[in-house]
Amino acid sequence: MNRVSLLKLKSIQNWSWIFLVTYFTLAKFNIYFGILGLVCMLMPLYFVIKYRSKVHCSHVCPRGSFLGKFLKRFTLHNNLPGWMRTSFFKDLLLTMMIFSFSISLYKARGSYIDISAVIVTMMFRSLILGIIFGIFFKPRAWCQVCPMSTGSDKFKLALLKLKIIK
Ligand code: SF4
Repeated sequence: MNRVSLLKLKSIQNWSWIFLVTYFTLAKFNIYFGILGLVCMLMPLYFVIKYRSKVHCSHVCPRGSFLGKFLKRFTLHNNLPGWMRTSFFKDLLLTMMIFSFSISLYKARGSYIDISAVIVTMMFRSLILGIIFGIFFKPRAWCQVCPMSTGSDKFKLALLKLKIIK
């Protein structure tokens, strides 16, 4: 692991929620900006390759930043039920996300506008789910089941198995 670089990396999670708000605002005015959501989807994988760790979740993620910042006042502060913390539930969410994303991309048939719309919808759904989880449980409860996090774990395992990273 590139520990020195990791320690030097400054967290921007105090304010990275601004990226999320800017993203949805831009996409609202022009759906073409929706494609930028790909950055949010691919960043966790990039950080796994670069730092062998989920730096995206701990230092960067605009969604995590948004949930942590704005849900503190509204949360009921419950713990997630045990069954939601199981690998089965997390894998199910990841599978459902990949499945619905793939079907929607297929239906977009290469149209830039439709692909952008699919990405905005995916980003919006995960934000809404994050807010619902944050209200009923703890502000960042979504992070305990987030498909991006589960996917990053699996991606790291695959890279380790293939000896692409050590
Ligand atoms: S778990 Fe998901 S929502 Fe939470 S910080 Fe990581 S990528 Fe963002």
